[in-house]
Amino acid sequence: MPKISVVVPCYNEEESAPLFLNEVLAVAYKIPADFEIIFVDDGSKDSTLQVLRSLAGEHPQVRYINFSRNFGKEAAVLAGLEHSTGDYIVVMDADLQHPPVLLPQMYDAIVNEGFDSVAAKRKNRKGEPPIRSFFARRFYRLINRISQTEMMDGATDYRMMTRQMVDAVLSLKEYNRFTKGLFSWVGFNTKWLEYENVPRVAGETKWSFFSLFKYSLEGIISFSVRPLAISSFFGFLFCLLAFVGIAFLIIRWIMFGDPVQGWVSTACIILFVGGVQLFSTGILGQYIAKSYLEVKGRPVYIIKEKK
Ligand code: UDP
Ligand code: MG
Repeated sequence: MPKISVVVPCYNEEESAPLFLNEVLAVAYKIPADFEIIFVDDGSKDSTLQVLRSLAGEHPQVRYINFSRNFGKEAAVLAGLEHSTGDYIVVMDADLQHPPVLLPQMYDAIVNEGFDSVAAKRKNRKGEPPIRSFFARRFYRLINRISQTEMMDGATDYRMMTRQMVDAVLSLKEYNRFTKGLFSWVGFNTKWLEYENVPRVAGETKWSFFSLFKYSLEGIISFSVRPLAISSFFGFLFCLLAFVGIAFLIIRWIMFGDPVQGWVSTACIILFVGGVQLFSTGILGQYIAKSYLEVKGRPVYIIKEKK
């Protein structure tokens, strides 16, 4: 029998985890495969770990990994993928926003239609604050323009993959892991399944507007070097403007002499150019900071306990 590994990142999901497990097990019997469910407790502050221990005690298919602190969802997904032993691997959120009813369809598309991965995509952004939808759309438009790696608007992290594709994802050893991008970067054939957005079953979202904003910058810096080109472009543009300005001043001096005037405009120019320089240095700094983290080669997560 083939085996399916379900990887579930959990951060403060004491209420959701048992509900999630019930739903998955209720669907699992429809699929002719063995199941292994790997909960990754990402340093939860509530009693998620105790809940996972008891679930693992009751169900032989359930395993868990407990981090020494909160390392973030990307780290939890990585740990789950690294510890999975199945022939097919599926990544799902613990809050049941990724409907387990799609699992048989996903499995079917991989086994019978020959896809390497099947990913779920939300039909629309209903139930999301409009301002968040607005910025999310802008983000996808921007990143698809400046990065070679295509990112699908509305794509979730809910995805079933073959062992071969997971091994490819695991062969990317980078420290800054923007999972959405990595899944797309490795290639392979992906089928997209659309579904209606569902609210969380319990607990609350860990994403604030600000953390999403930071996450989007993460994605841009990990998958595009275009911002560096933009700062070079500004550098070039300003040199050009300076030459035009110098020519203008020389001609005016020849024609009208040199009365002292225009310190306000000079001050404005200095401020503006200084701003552009700092902005460009900031962009450069972002890339250097990322390289710094990569070079240090720290582990992406640290495990405290597992079963
Ligand atoms: N999560 C995690 N570590 C974190 C934040 C979130 O493992 O630092 C997990 C969380 O438990 C859930 C999934 O990632 O299973 C998605 O998080 P959430 O539901 O808060 O995000 P949303 O669905 O609102 O985008
Ligand atoms: Mg959620």
